[in-house]
Amino acid sequence: MTETSHAPSRQLPAVEKETLSFWTAGAEGRLQICRCEGCGRYLHPPLPRCPDCGGDTSPSTVSGRARVATFTVNHQPWVPGLAVPFVFAAVELVEQPELYVFTNIIGCPVDDVRIGMAVKVAFEQHGDIFLPMFQPLGAADAS
Ligand SMILES: [Zn+2]
Repeated sequence: MTETSHAPSRQLPAVEKETLSFWTAGAEGRLQICRCEGCGRYLHPPLPRCPDCGGDTSPSTVSGRARVATFTVNHQPWVPGLAVPFVFAAVELVEQPELYVFTNIIGCPVDDVRIGMAVKVAFEQHGDIFLPMFQPLGAADAS
């Protein structure tokens, strides 16, 4: 039997000023990443100032497209009620090299996840928080 990757139940993130839009913009279906207003560099995790040019930063909407950079498959329910298996991954957003988001890959068999696989954001709502998960980019999305 093929096992499908689940989104694990997990502790919700501590939402701070810089990360608020990252965790809540999913309400409007948008993935927002902190971006320097000076040089245009994306910064994740968010920073109040750009380490390159010292510019102010603000949330910027990105495409939600990414590629799997690294991943691990977890079969161990580390806490009671944790759905397994699940895939923990670092995905590289298409907007900028080495712009990584740590996330879960959902919506496909765990054995199908590959490094370099194209994925897109899919939000999982927990109250006011929308966790950015990623799922395989289907053929229908390839336009
Ligand atoms: Zn900058």
